[in-house]
Amino acid sequence: MAFHDIMERPARGELIILDGALGTEIRRRSGDTGRSDLAVTRMLESPNLIREIHADYIRAGADVITANTYDCNQYALSLDGLDAEMSDSLTRMAMELAINARNASQADGVIVAGSLGPLASDYDPNDVPSFETCLSAYRDQAKVMAETDVDMILVETAAQARSARAGVVAAVEVGLPVWASLLASPNGTVSSGESWLEAVETLVSAGASAVLINCTMPDAITVSMRELSLHNQVVVGAYGQGALPVGDGWIFDPSMSPNEYAKHAQDWVGLGARIIGGCCATTPEHIRYLKSEVMPHT
Ligand SMILES: [Zn+2]
Repeated sequence: MAFHDIMERPARGELIILDGALGTEIRRRSGDTGRSDLAVTRMLESPNLIREIHADYIRAGADVITANTYDCNQYALSLDGLDAEMSDSLTRMAMELAINARNASQADGVIVAGSLGPLASDYDPNDVPSFETCLSAYRDQAKVMAETDVDMILVETAAQARSARAGVVAAVEVGLPVWASLLASPNGTVSSGESWLEAVETLVSAGASAVLINCTMPDAITVSMRELSLHNQVVVGAYGQGALPVGDGWIFDPSMSPNEYAKHAQDWVGLGARIIGGCCATTPEHIRYLKSEVMPHT
């Protein structure tokens, strides 16, 4: 029910606010920036930390919080040197932490998304596994998510429409609403070079009710939003990087101020985006600014 309520907002000229980063926020609060497995291992060591981050995003005004399941597919776990067999139990744990945080909050109508992140090397569009491989991993996670009080699935950081479509199909199979979010190139296309027209058609025909851009620098999002927002058969949105990555990619410095980030988000909204939030290096403060400073254009 809550999902359908939230999807009525864009037609009324209202925005849907997503949360900000989880992975980099876990790193920032842990003071440990170098380990790629941190989002999962910190969840096992300190589940309260994850619950607190979710609670802070709800307090900041997020309408949608995303569970820490991004790195819990079998391939990402193996890449991090963790046990792929733990995919089900980690996915369930992450879902329950987000659902607990939502249920404990006083906020009305906040919805919980299960995240389907890239398989291992998915960030490179040339390295995206086959549709069948992606579908098999996403099916396992989507089944677990559907056994919880999840409201929707968010397929994230897809470098190709193919892998995003696998996540959408897995969500539809278990009866959950789904949005798909892809990486953009600086040239106004998906990072794979596919046009946003192709991507939207692929994803909407598979059952996605929104198409977004994420994990991309704000300037590049603006270039792609001009293309993506031409497709008015689907709600569109974006959540971008709050800083430039440095070194191994997990250190972000200097951080883009919440005010500066909100100005970019205002540009996306001006172009037609109705779902906005933050990706790597954004914080609850960035989300507070989006909620209070970014106004819809009707
Ligand atoms: Zn990101």
